[in-house]
Amino acid sequence: MLFDTHCHLAMEDFDNDLDEVVKRARDANVVNLCVIGTSPSDWEKSVSIAKRFGFICSLAFSPHDSKLLNDENFEKLKEFTNLKVVKAIGETGLDYHYFLSSKEEQIKSFERHIELAEKKSLPLIIHSRDSYLDTISTLKGVRTKVVIHSFTYGIKEAEEFLKEGFFISFSGIVTFKNSSLIQESAKIIPEDKILYETDAPYLSPVPHRGKRCEPAFVKETAQFLSTIRGEDVKIFEEKSSNNANLFFS
Ligand SMILES: [Zn+2]
Repeated sequence: MLFDTHCHLAMEDFDNDLDEVVKRARDANVVNLCVIGTSPSDWEKSVSIAKRFGFICSLAFSPHDSKLLNDENFEKLKEFTNLKVVKAIGETGLDYHYFLSSKEEQIKSFERHIELAEKKSLPLIIHSRDSYLDTISTLKGVRTKVVIHSFTYGIKEAEEFLKEGFFISFSGIVTFKNSSLIQESAKIIPEDKILYETDAPYLSPVPHRGKRCEPAFVKETAQFLSTIRGEDVKIFEEKSSNNANLFFS
């Protein structure tokens, strides 16, 4: 039983073969997945894909799309979160690597998403790249569940996030040869706080690296994590799927 907690099936990369992608995911024992919508232009499509296949979804203005946020389209996001299929808010957060939106736009957007998630009692999916300090300070005292998605920091940062009670999710990046810091961090996450994901179509795990990523590949990431953690793969898969179910309620 696998649960891909983060993938972008509404992206046009999947327009031509979505049915086969979902079939391969099911054949790989992926029983559920969370479709992430990142801007007003893909919310509707994310919701309809999730409904059509019996998955769940999570919507937000991604950090990159923070610059698009205004009062009117934030209202639209609020309306979407009333739908039963929308089980989380995200990905929101901070990306100081690309700066596709300014720091000010990202922080403002991040704060509005936190407020909305608390109000709706929905969990938050956080994107944090090269922005650890501002991420943790903006999230201080947050009153809802949080996952740090596609974790790319080290042990010290993982420990600080864990102190706040956050979940940590690993993508295919953890399987890369040069990811020793991320791998060391994966070993210290308590078994009730660890999640995994594909972030498809990005970040294919080894041995698919370089190819379009799809939810079926979450199997390799789960296998890799269980190996480095010294856990039985079946037990690890079951526990982390359980974590995902708890996270998304
Ligand atoms: Zn993503």
